[in-house]
Amino acid sequence: MTIPRLRGAALATVTLVAVGSMVAPGSADAAPGDPAAPRYSAGAASVGDPYFPDEGNGGYDVQHYDLNFSYDPATRLMAATATITATAMHDLDQFNLDFRGPEISSLTVDGHAHDFTRDGQELVVTPRPKLKTGQAFTVVVRYAGVPGLITDPDGSIEGWVPTDDGAFVVGEPQGTPAWLPANDHPTDKATFRFTAKVPEGLTAVGNGQLLSQQTRDGWTTFIWDSTEPMASYLATITIGKFEVTESTTPSGIPVYVAVDPRQVAGSAAAVAQIPRMIDFFSSTFGPYPFASTGAIIDRAPDVGYALETQTKPVFSGSASVGTMAHELAHQWYGDSVSPERWSDIWLNEGFATYAQWMYTEYNGGASVSQTFNSSSNYGRAPSSSFWQIVLADPGPEDMFSNIPYNRGAMTLHALRGKVGDDTFFRILREWASSHRHSHAATADFIALSERASGQDLKAFFDVWLFQKGKPTTW
Ligand SMILES: [Zn+2]
Repeated sequence: MTIPRLRGAALATVTLVAVGSMVAPGSADAAPGDPAAPRYSAGAASVGDPYFPDEGNGGYDVQHYDLNFSYDPATRLMAATATITATAMHDLDQFNLDFRGPEISSLTVDGHAHDFTRDGQELVVTPRPKLKTGQAFTVVVRYAGVPGLITDPDGSIEGWVPTDDGAFVVGEPQGTPAWLPANDHPTDKATFRFTAKVPEGLTAVGNGQLLSQQTRDGWTTFIWDSTEPMASYLATITIGKFEVTESTTPSGIPVYVAVDPRQVAGSAAAVAQIPRMIDFFSSTFGPYPFASTGAIIDRAPDVGYALETQTKPVFSGSASVGTMAHELAHQWYGDSVSPERWSDIWLNEGFATYAQWMYTEYNGGASVSQTFNSSSNYGRAPSSSFWQIVLADPGPEDMFSNIPYNRGAMTLHALRGKVGDDTFFRILREWASSHRHSHAATADFIALSERASGQDLKAFFDVWLFQKGKPTTW
């Protein structure tokens, strides 16, 4: 949450210069002779990530989201109050939230009711009184209706996905505004609390720790608290009929696992290994970054993928051991250290895939070198389309193809060969510790690798990350 402030400040400077040159002389708010006087302008409608140009906004930094809602799967209706606590990064007379959810009945800023406009994903708010730099403010949005479903550039669905017994809730890379007004970009992390009221017999499972669970008049209310900063795309509050088991890892981390009864048999091996995975990754990557762990294993056949939702990855079908290892490894790489831009997606998927290869080897399966050389990886012919996309900029349609996953993992294995095991694992641990609960870019990883190894790795990373074609020498 601190590094986005630098981005906000830089953005603010640019905006102030532009606005000042255009309107300052005639503006009642601007005081040309007094540099300390507020100079109000609108927060940017985007953070400028080219893969998803509507995502995120400028001018403020969110500290906390509190969502209090009821959901009835029979009608698919949600009734919600979202309370967003944020800080103005420059003098603001307007700011945007990202929201593609149902109809809004009221919106307040610091208790004052406000008009607002909606244009696609942009919810535009004009606060009065205006907000000064550094001022904390609270936005309360009340809305009710059917939450949204979003189709991604690769054709997959996300957002609030109805299931036969509830809802499967996933948000990477743009699904969370379907049900929560947010500054929807991984560069603005915040803490979250969900208070979810669902018909008795159903369970609502969210990120973080369960604070309470109470049933009254046929409805059960669950309160989930995420105490570490979280990127909005990693939020979930998945609802359904679940068998819940609670335990702790050998190192003492609480584990909460919710499994759709129909997926119990198919997921038993993966669930049983969660504590062992967490401890193996902790010994390899450094301390587990969150206060709890677990999994949500649901039945959402139209989704067809799993996601590393923070503290509790969510699965749309039964969980395999390999996929469980992948999603839990993301807790370090992706969730705690998030991508600065979506083009950096290999930093998520390549790392989680490499961790999955390592866990397979640790478990007595194929060695990492065997997996690297297999026909799914380096064994692919040079003519394969697999090699024809730039790994460090795969584009929104290929960001979840096998390219960031497999070529990303291969890049890490090649780096390991280049710098040696000791340096390689020092790099992985320092990557997790120095960007913990924040975000980072590909250039940061290259700089860390060069610093830790003392080698000039520009040619190495050029071949693996920035060139098309199968690497042959590096
Ligand atoms: Zn992944």
